[in-house]
Amino acid sequence: MGLFSKEACTFCGTEVGMLKRSKLQTKEYICNECKKKTNPFARMDYTSKDNAQHMMDTLAQEAADFETSFDSAENRFQSAERSFKTWDLGSHRVQYRCNTRLGAFQIISENHSSYEHIPVFYFDSMIPYQFDDGNKNLEGFRNSEIMDINAEYVTVKEDKDMDGNLTACTVIIPYNDICIREIRLNGNAGNESDKEVFYDLAEQINSDRKAWINNGIYDAERKNKMQIRNLGDTAAEILKAAATGGNVEEAVKQGIETANDIEEGKVKQGFFGKLFRK
Ligand SMILES: [Zn+2]
Repeated sequence: MGLFSKEACTFCGTEVGMLKRSKLQTKEYICNECKKKTNPFARMDYTSKDNAQHMMDTLAQEAADFETSFDSAENRFQSAERSFKTWDLGSHRVQYRCNTRLGAFQIISENHSSYEHIPVFYFDSMIPYQFDDGNKNLEGFRNSEIMDINAEYVTVKEDKDMDGNLTACTVIIPYNDICIREIRLNGNAGNESDKEVFYDLAEQINSDRKAWINNGIYDAERKNKMQIRNLGDTAAEILKAAATGGNVEEAVKQGIETANDIEEGKVKQGFFGKLFRK
């Protein structure tokens, strides 16, 4: 077990030296080649062998699903979200895009160009990491934290030298994932005006998160309105069926099916009138 000894990667079996491997939380080794199949923001010392395997199995599908999510965008604004925007954080270039309806975003750092997948992150995990001990009270607390529209979870940390001059900045995104407890994007900032771009990126992500919560509130209100209309329509159909000797059971069944479709988002508001205002 000397400093220069080689160890086998637990995934591909390749024997690699110290500079070409990382130690997993569960003490096995992962080689740099296999690590490129995981999330670039994951820390291997937080990541178990199973968690690493899970990332390798799911990241490609998550990225593909995220890409597809823009196809179903309901309006021009949302389809405009598909393109990546670029921030030059000092000498460090970062690209970001977000689907505010889905509540997910992607970040590419040029430092991670050798990684295979662009990771997808979710706003409902964008809160400070805490161990989940299965406490139900804590769960309710976590949910209120996730839906707190005033929270600005993304922050900027400024680094200064001994004379108090700014040297670097870091955008910090807290993340409630066992392998990724923070997403950190740092770069040089030689003078005060250099820091604006870091605050700009932080503000973009914070405002996208608010847009996601607002979209959710809007969706819930829209669903409620549709359910109330469906209740009224179903009651009318039942009365009509009862009065004319029609099929009451069928009218009830129709109403329940429509209620379920509304919950699942299968009924769009525009179609609603056409379907049920005969
Ligand atoms: Zn390997």
